[in-house]
Amino acid sequence: GCSLAVFTSGGDAQGMNPAVRAIVRMGIYLGCTVYFIHEGYQGLVDGGHSIRQATWASVSGISEDGGTIIGSARCKDFRERPGRLRAAKNLIEHGINNIVCIGGDGSLTGANLFREEWSSLLKELVETNQVKQEDAETYSYLNIVGLVGSIDNDFCGTDMTIGADSALHRIMEAIDCIATTATSHQRCFILEVMGRHCGYLALVTALGSDADWVFMPEAPPEPGWEDQLCNKLKNTRETGQRLNIIVLAEGAIDCEHRPIKSDDVRELISKRLKYDTRITILGHVQRGGCPSAFDRLLGTRMGAEAVLALMEATPTSKPVVIALSGNQTVRVPLMRCVEKTLAVAQAMQAKRFKEAQELRGRSF
Ligand code: ADP
Repeated sequence: GCSLAVFTSGGDAQGMNPAVRAIVRMGIYLGCTVYFIHEGYQGLVDGGHSIRQATWASVSGISEDGGTIIGSARCKDFRERPGRLRAAKNLIEHGINNIVCIGGDGSLTGANLFREEWSSLLKELVETNQVKQEDAETYSYLNIVGLVGSIDNDFCGTDMTIGADSALHRIMEAIDCIATTATSHQRCFILEVMGRHCGYLALVTALGSDADWVFMPEAPPEPGWEDQLCNKLKNTRETGQRLNIIVLAEGAIDCEHRPIKSDDVRELISKRLKYDTRITILGHVQRGGCPSAFDRLLGTRMGAEAVLALMEATPTSKPVVIALSGNQTVRVPLMRCVEKTLAVAQAMQAKRFKEAQELRGRSF
């Protein structure tokens, strides 16, 4: 059988462990030797003890844990060619040329670059006598499959990323708690949620919590929104509602790309309406805790499919990302996803917000 390795990279997300478990067990089931690469790309660059063989038992009982048992990191070295050269050497030393990368768009962009460079990296390793010619021939191509682990649901090409659903569970629990106390005191709450440049968490939170207003990057409020917001809050209070919930994405901006900060919104409301207004920034709570049933299943299905995709890869096949489309796990070209994700950023930059929403696709 062949050898394959799995690593988790970038920000952690609930559901990475069920994915790791499925990859290890599907790999072993198909007769492969499976390796963990610990601490993301850093472990790949460092080699040595960071690359360890996985066993059937080593992934027992991990599905219910959030985060990732094999560690995740951001790695400067891998951004430069010398780091990627060391990474290639370490993989060949372990006889690995199949890898599953679980990470966000940054990690998957890096994986794609690594694959494109592979033959030139091998050439350099042979020329500098770090790798034998025969090994370079045996491992002449690198197969890569990506899984998107991110609470932000910010990746084009999949309806859901691993972790987004669990993050929504954390947020909903928090909002429900805040709502009871806010009602008692007739307060206005501004709840800031994660998502970087993506408003998915904010939008779903607002819909699920009956919020009065949502600020999200893809749909900046029209000029004059300050009056609109205050009128809306006032009207709902006058019809008897005892609390107000405003959801604000951490990446919220106005039409001129100026960030909308929770402090500014609070100032506005306290000054104009004299409501007792509080801010809750959920922060890393959103990344924490156990994965939801949905994320456990998503990670498991995507992990199993990733191994099948690796086994079916040929020297000429393009790298894929395992995505959810409707309720199906499908393989989509990695490059197209990365390019589309980049196109969203460009559309936002150019204030073509409608286009950005459309590019984000079905998850909106
Ligand atoms: P995420 O994968 O969650 O988007 P980052 O963007 O921080 O997180 O990327 C994680 C790691 O992936 C980086 O620390 C770096 O090692 C690697 N990486 C990201 N972008 C590139 C790139 N363009 N080239 C090479 N490696 C990259």
